[in-house]
Amino acid sequence: MSTANPGAQRVRTRVAPSPTGDPHVGTAYVALVNYCFARKHGGDFLLRIEDTDQVRSTPESERAILAALHWTGLSWDEGPDVGGPHGPYRQSERSAIYRRYADELLASGKAFRCFCTPERLEEMRAIQRAAGTPQKYDGQCCALSADESGRRAAAGEPFVVRMVVPDSGVCVVNDLARGPITFEYATVDMQVLLKSDGLPTYHLANVVDDYLMEITHVIRGEEWVSSAPKHLLLYEYFGWEPPVLMHLPLLRNPDHTKLSKRKNPTGILFYERMGYLPEALMNFLGLLLAPAPEGEEIFSIDALTRRLDLAKISLGGPVFDVAKLDWINGKYLHALTTEELMQRTQAWGFDRDRLVRIAELARARIERLSDLVPSAAYLFAGRVAVTKESFAGTKLADEALRKALALAMWRLDAERVFDKAAVERVLKGVAEALGAKFRDLARVYYVAMTGSPTALPLFDSMELLGRDICRERFRVALDAFGGVTAKEQKEWTRDLPPDEPNGAAA
Ligand code: GLU
Repeated sequence: MSTANPGAQRVRTRVAPSPTGDPHVGTAYVALVNYCFARKHGGDFLLRIEDTDQVRSTPESERAILAALHWTGLSWDEGPDVGGPHGPYRQSERSAIYRRYADELLASGKAFRCFCTPERLEEMRAIQRAAGTPQKYDGQCCALSADESGRRAAAGEPFVVRMVVPDSGVCVVNDLARGPITFEYATVDMQVLLKSDGLPTYHLANVVDDYLMEITHVIRGEEWVSSAPKHLLLYEYFGWEPPVLMHLPLLRNPDHTKLSKRKNPTGILFYERMGYLPEALMNFLGLLLAPAPEGEEIFSIDALTRRLDLAKISLGGPVFDVAKLDWINGKYLHALTTEELMQRTQAWGFDRDRLVRIAELARARIERLSDLVPSAAYLFAGRVAVTKESFAGTKLADEALRKALALAMWRLDAERVFDKAAVERVLKGVAEALGAKFRDLARVYYVAMTGSPTALPLFDSMELLGRDICRERFRVALDAFGGVTAKEQKEWTRDLPPDEPNGAAA
């Protein structure tokens, strides 16, 4: 494995988000380290879209991720929106490349066609579960002769391509931050590289692209560390020098559990809509990477670039402490001139289009000009203060009310596009699912979303507030009733898709 000394080769790093949900603060955190590291060494920072999961990847999510990363103030030298010499930078446009490399592995005997049916795999897993042995492919098709494998493929039998994994021995992953980590091959699965539709999985696409894009340092979240042995094997099979690997500790909730949107908003756009400045958010994330002594905690991305030392990144889970972020954001706001503050505020929420839409909603409902601002105030606020008492007039039992709020929140999360039509469809659908009249639920939603049982039209208001603020307001309302237990969540979401298509990582 190459060393951490970036002297010899031009440093190239990347951030490689999967467009399967809302832009996540974890992506900004990973992007920030990669950006600073590349800049520090006069290298390149790339953005690659890893959309190999065709079911969960959406163009809306990709657009939102790009917009959110631009908002952070980071820039990339190569990427789907800026081009570059190693494109395309969207994996769905590179299928033919991955097939070629899968064929190469098939030809060299480092990969094999697996014809096992889903039923056979399920049977195999059941046996493994009963025996308490690791859940992994048992290698049945690995033993097929090249002739038989070729003949069955030619006859049109569906297959996937799996990588060969030795059944004994160890793989040592030299993690830049963690040092050597040893994995027993016996625990490493014979990973599917190419699915039966001929499209790659994350593992093949990721390794091939990091190689072709000449990535020298792969700095990514700790959740990928268990993939590293598979990746290193692939580099070895292809005869390629692997990049330096480094796995960053995951961001944590204040209670030290993995950062999750049930406990803490995780969307970059949430922080944007709440009125945090991007430089404050990046400063905050930078402090998680490189703590600074009191009095030196406010710094720019350029200053972070100079101070960042990968070898010193603490492995203790960095806590996403919103109180600290508030403090930092305050510092940035106080440092603005009045003129700058006005400009930033205007760009944030007072652009003409938005004001026109609000005026259209309010015009028929006001009697004095002085009514206008109060009637729309909740559209400019972050959270609205609601308590159990705020819902007193809703006539719903607590359980029904909590369910109405929770189902709306989850179902809206599963919507690709968050607009007035989607909101209306989802909220009415929840009423139907609960066997309630929408009229009876509307008041609950009004209170949760606007803080008051009467306000400007609900669906329009929610579209204007956006998915992130609405989700947070649902959460605050649910919290007023003690939240939702894990058991309730399981029961109530039975009819929802198993993986939330949006923001699923949380
Ligand atoms: N597509 C992966 C993600 O969503 C990238 C993992 C990696 O950086 O290798 O985080």
